[in-house]
Amino acid sequence: MSAALSSIPSRLARLRSALAEGGADAILISHPENRAYLSGFTGSAGILLITQDRAVIATDFRYWEQVGLEAPHFELAQIKTTINDLLPGLLEGLPKVAFEADHASYAMAQGWQEAAAGVEWRPTKGMTADLRAIKDEGEIGILRRAVLLADAALAAGLAEARPGMAELELAWIIESYMRTHGAQGVAFDLHVASGPNGARPHAHTSEKKLQAGEPIVIDMGAKVDGYRSDLTRTVCLGEPADADKFWTVYNTVLGAQTAAMAAIRPGLTGKEADAVARDFITQAGYGEAFGHGLGHGVGLEIHEQPFMGRLSTSTLQQNMVVTVEPGIYLPDWGGVRIEDIVLITENGAEVLTTAPKYPII
Ligand code: ZN
Ligand code: ZN
Repeated sequence: MSAALSSIPSRLARLRSALAEGGADAILISHPENRAYLSGFTGSAGILLITQDRAVIATDFRYWEQVGLEAPHFELAQIKTTINDLLPGLLEGLPKVAFEADHASYAMAQGWQEAAAGVEWRPTKGMTADLRAIKDEGEIGILRRAVLLADAALAAGLAEARPGMAELELAWIIESYMRTHGAQGVAFDLHVASGPNGARPHAHTSEKKLQAGEPIVIDMGAKVDGYRSDLTRTVCLGEPADADKFWTVYNTVLGAQTAAMAAIRPGLTGKEADAVARDFITQAGYGEAFGHGLGHGVGLEIHEQPFMGRLSTSTLQQNMVVTVEPGIYLPDWGGVRIEDIVLITENGAEVLTTAPKYPII
């Protein structure tokens, strides 16, 4: 049995106690990563129905065999037309049914409500996301591999990076390294943002040629066994053209990241963690230029619970895995962001990322 499969019963048990607490008899799970997390099924279509004593997966012909292989804890309900035709039978004897209001579309929910009109529908938010925020041993092992693969791919890319190379070409060298060294794919479309492009935190990688001396922000990650890593480094090909400014900005971001990673521990709120980095950057005079949150959980999705930012409502707990990624963005000049992944331990945080931080290539 795979590591993931052996943890399905405990995941279902935790979901069932959350369900009982909320007073619902069952929940429909439509969110793809939640479906995979709770069942082991990796197909791209299907809905779970979970009650206190049943676990059903409803999916169509394409996946019936796969369900048998991947989700032995679930009984299969064969969809031959639409899920709505199965619902009256599946929901018999279940008066209160929860659904994922933060995923199901209005049209989906409306269809279910019409199909099973006698049911009292209960919109819920984040029930499975909260479970997923705390990783088990198997998940942490996979995440470590995804992190190390991204670190190696970045090193391979930087070994070939030259002035005159297009951002897209550098992104492709990194991506192809990951795909030929065990990644299922990229964790998200790679960002290589050089010079002024780096001033936009989510700039599209472009045909622009890398130039010596400009800051280059590279944000990337690998997808391994369904889990995603996330890594950002800011580098300079040769000495920075604007050395005073570059080093001031770089060292401010690095100092903020170091301070935040030293502070992170169970019990700290996402808001407090963010404030550690934000206060550091603000004291250096760049507070306005740090326009996003400090970091986010990573796992089956690239951005998941918990979030660390000014509006965060999360509290950090042991075995959460989060990014720590302060940045400073200066229009017309560029940006600096440094992002590592940390595992929250009993007393602090273990940095999983191993990519070096000395920026001159
Ligand atoms: Zn990133
Ligand atoms: Zn990130």
